[in-house]
Amino acid sequence: MTKGYLIDMDGVIYRGSTMIPGAVEFIQQLQRTGTPFLFLTNNSERSPKDLVAKFSHYGLKVSWKNFYTAAHCTADFLVRQQPTSSAFVIGEGGLIVALQEAGIAFDSIKPDFVVVGEGRVLSFELMEKAMRLLAKGSRLVATNPDTWCPTDAGPRPGTGALVALLESATNTKAYCLGKPNPFMFVMARKRLGLRTDETVMIGDTMETDIRGAVELGIPAYLVLTGSTKREDVARYPYQPSGILNSIADLLNLEESVLAHAAVAA
Ligand SMILES: [Mg+2]
Repeated sequence: MTKGYLIDMDGVIYRGSTMIPGAVEFIQQLQRTGTPFLFLTNNSERSPKDLVAKFSHYGLKVSWKNFYTAAHCTADFLVRQQPTSSAFVIGEGGLIVALQEAGIAFDSIKPDFVVVGEGRVLSFELMEKAMRLLAKGSRLVATNPDTWCPTDAGPRPGTGALVALLESATNTKAYCLGKPNPFMFVMARKRLGLRTDETVMIGDTMETDIRGAVELGIPAYLVLTGSTKREDVARYPYQPSGILNSIADLLNLEESVLAHAAVAA
């Protein structure tokens, strides 16, 4: 029995700056029925309060508590690894806020971690500094592994691509948080206060949304309004619990549609 939802944003709720038809109504349906949900995004650029403001422009009123971003996932991971840790950060406001709220100190002399996230702050000087800190023993962490992000104007390099520069230069591999890392799904599920079999993931990307949920045993439904075409699904070793044309398919009918999609998958 579904009791709550983890919902990817880009490709599920909106594409670029355009809302996907039915998305606002589905979220309003969850709010009306008191169904818990979290938006689960690999984008660490914006804080939850920034995202509340963004959604309000599209007519969607939600709480900042409805968001769990890769920035929170990274902060949760770092404080569990090392409660009083420090970091040198290459990223934008959403990541800075999440790390600060978690009590992680910013240090550019001898930080425990070098953390790379989404955004446009990259410069050669920052990369040079990060490389030298890694050489002195700081550990390399990325908020997410995505190598590109969609925008209205076309794709742009993602965190995975930015951190690849440091991986190559230092001959080390970053530890990647965000989807599909099961840590992200576990922490989000705990925030909802639900068991694995009570939680459903809705996403548009096989490599992140569907893979991570499958690895943790969370039912995962793929929507075709984002990065994946129906004909591409069969080539993946992991499969969604069902395929929906759009999140709008869940309007009014979510239980029966999920059951039908599960049979069809
Ligand atoms: Mg997506």
